[in-house]
Amino acid sequence: MLEPDDTVAVALSGGKDSAALLRILWKLERRFPPARLVALTVDEGISGYRSEAVSISRDMCDELGIKHTVVSFEELFGVTMDDVARRRNELQPCSYCGVLRRKALNEGARRLGATKLATAHNLDDEVQTALLNMMHGDVERISRPSSILRKTKARFIPRIKPLAEVPERETTLYAYACGTRFQTIPCPHGHDALRGDIRVMLNRLDLKHPGIRHTIYRSIERLSEAMGSTGKPRAFRACSICGEPTPNDTCEACIMLRTFKLDPSAARVVSAHTR
Ligand code: SF4
Ligand code: ZN
Repeated sequence: MLEPDDTVAVALSGGKDSAALLRILWKLERRFPPARLVALTVDEGISGYRSEAVSISRDMCDELGIKHTVVSFEELFGVTMDDVARRRNELQPCSYCGVLRRKALNEGARRLGATKLATAHNLDDEVQTALLNMMHGDVERISRPSSILRKTKARFIPRIKPLAEVPERETTLYAYACGTRFQTIPCPHGHDALRGDIRVMLNRLDLKHPGIRHTIYRSIERLSEAMGSTGKPRAFRACSICGEPTPNDTCEACIMLRTFKLDPSAARVVSAHTR
């Protein structure tokens, strides 16, 4: 996942998983003098929730001496997540948030000169997402590599998920053991009922059959390899509106912004400044 001279941007949400990841990478980075560690927080614009997370993230970085940058949905897209949640149609708020946040992270990582973007997805997140994709019939997503997304286009910062095989219980324990402060209140928009049911089901299964999440994760990896060897590699091109890499003519984020009657070209202006 990492090269000795990487500049790694950690996606720092202020929650327990990213707090644990930042601490782990901070310890590792000190052993590799050419490497650099920076942190990036996305402010989605969620009242009563995100401002606390931003301030916790700032304090964490000050304590560890890590450069920290915040990018916001409002600055990049001219809309907050609270607006999106009010104006959304059939999709859950998290579906919009995920797409816009991926784009914001890529943009922020570029501003920081990062060569890798590290996200704190843990084993539970990965298995839940894979099962969700299956239940939504989105089998194509399962064929994409999971813990490392390599560079496919000049503007895409390769993503790594160093905690992808670590159960959530262990990242939580690590964060408590470090004595780090992290955000504990949940996001007011995070009500994905199906993901919640999958989480409960997996927790129950794991009590009776310890290690089952790892077994499912391995199966997904093998499935992904098998599908990758038969499927055509995805060709990426620049989004016709914002220039971000996308397999289609227009990226998902620009399509979403259009549904809110927002001008997605605003995102292009921001990107042009940071190229
Ligand atoms: Fe965004 Fe959903 Fe996470 Fe809230 S719970 S920050 S809406 S992805
Ligand atoms: Zn776009």
